[in-house]
Amino acid sequence: MGAKRPLRFAIIGAGMSGILSAIKLREAGFDDLTIYEKADRLGGTWRENTYPGISCDVPSHLYSYSFEPNPAWSHRFSPGDEIQTYFEGVAKRYGVEGRVRRGEEVTRCAFERGRWRLETKSGRHDEADVVIAATGVLHHPNLPDIPGLDRFEGALFHSARWDHGVRLDGRRIGIIGTGSTAVQITSALVDRVAKLSLFQRTAQWIMPQENPAFGEAEKAEFRRHPETMRRLHGELARMFSVFSNAIVDASSPQMKQIEDTCRANLESSVRDPVLREKLRPSYRAACKRLIMSPDFYQAIQKPNAELVTEGIECAVPGGVRTRGGRLVELDVLVLATGFRADRFVRPMQVIGHDGLELDERWSQRPDAYLSISVPGFPNFFMLNGPNGPVGNFSLIEVAELQMAYILQLVELLRSGRCREISPSEEATRRFEVERTEAARNTIWATGCRSWYLDDRGIPAVWPWTFDRFREEMARPKLEAWVQVG
Ligand SMILES: Cc1cc2nc3c(=O)[nH]c(=O)nc-3n(C[C@H](O)[C@H](O)[C@H](O)COP(=O)(O)OP(=O)(O)OC[C@H]3O[C@@H](n4cnc5c(N)ncnc54)[C@H](O)[C@@H]3O)c2cc1C
Repeated sequence: MGAKRPLRFAIIGAGMSGILSAIKLREAGFDDLTIYEKADRLGGTWRENTYPGISCDVPSHLYSYSFEPNPAWSHRFSPGDEIQTYFEGVAKRYGVEGRVRRGEEVTRCAFERGRWRLETKSGRHDEADVVIAATGVLHHPNLPDIPGLDRFEGALFHSARWDHGVRLDGRRIGIIGTGSTAVQITSALVDRVAKLSLFQRTAQWIMPQENPAFGEAEKAEFRRHPETMRRLHGELARMFSVFSNAIVDASSPQMKQIEDTCRANLESSVRDPVLREKLRPSYRAACKRLIMSPDFYQAIQKPNAELVTEGIECAVPGGVRTRGGRLVELDVLVLATGFRADRFVRPMQVIGHDGLELDERWSQRPDAYLSISVPGFPNFFMLNGPNGPVGNFSLIEVAELQMAYILQLVELLRSGRCREISPSEEATRRFEVERTEAARNTIWATGCRSWYLDDRGIPAVWPWTFDRFREEMARPKLEAWVQVG
């Protein structure tokens, strides 16, 4: 057997996926790697989102790396700062922290003479045999096109750019949006502020979900017997598989059960029939990302809370004017308007074979074989890339499965079986045709507007069961991959 080819890796992004890839690469014996992170701290989503009430909406013992259970989780759905601490702690324990070049945004990545040449905003250059893009999916804030926002005289910020210098207690707060973030902020702030106005364009189904704290005895048990946490992780993963299998079949009995639970929650929790109808969505549960909350309906019924449904005409210096001509006076306006979920590695410029630009290939919409890699861009792999599984389940599990798949491809490079690997155009085209066909039958395509939908209104997600995703990730079908050299 010949000598193994040494490989150098560049990982872009030091969030959950970037940290994971460095750990897994080192575990596989690849030690020549650098993680580029544009911010001055790792953590990605959990570094950026620090709004009041932030927590994961997947149980913490599932929203953990499978190899690093955490006995310290305080709640079933733990707050964001604990999640940030968890990722920083794992990075430190696995010796990954020292591999992160902070404050270095990769602006250009070009495949030239068999290697990737990277360039950062500060002018640093690097070369790598393999690039792993872990640049995030919910990363670029989506800013609403509301006339007059620049004239608003109060404090104004996106939920992912929370300004902690702004006083909230006793003030009039407006929140635009009704996704998971807006719901969490509403519950967290309503008792602190003089008035809370929630601007709703679309009502949301709410899944009632208690969030009990773990007692000291339970945490001690977790510490003493880590296998309990591993078992719990496995059980939760199986539970979420049932859920994710249900939502890809809009007519499944499990889907009906989810809908019945959400409807019962609305009927039993909201007393005022007028408010109840305003809060009743006109589409099926889980068509938009399902919101988990133990107390949103209670919060929005508080005397100082108002659900504004007239639509927004414009912002004015003193607040927001509705389409009905009413002025909602505000001191603070929060844009809980989500993210541009179609950006992925962009605005980084990625240039593959023959000068092919990724942005050009993606000018209509992003595509990737199995959401991992793009024809013509050899040895370039994405974690949580386009059209992957992004429903209500743990993206950590998704990234772990993808990374295990990528490592099998990387092994072909290390063993010398090939020098370059990328998916074939034919396999990618076939995957996209089958994917979009299947996506039309999912709950996400049953008539609502959501960030899951692409420019054609087709869900830009993995449309099959999570079990099928697991199977697909278990072993690459090498006939789909072009191996060169
Ligand atoms: C409010 C909120 C709540 C969420 N809750 C859940 C949940 O409950 N369960 C769940 O599974 N998922 C949840 N998610 C999704 C969450 O994004 C993922 O779970 C996970 O954190 C993604 O990790 P990542 O590393 O792939 O991406 P990110 O966390 O987005 O990290 C990407 C990193 O790459 C860096 N980067 C990007 N481009 C460059 C560049 N060109 N050069 C250098 N660095 C770059 C960024 O600065 C960032 O640090 C939530 C997301 C949000 C926004």
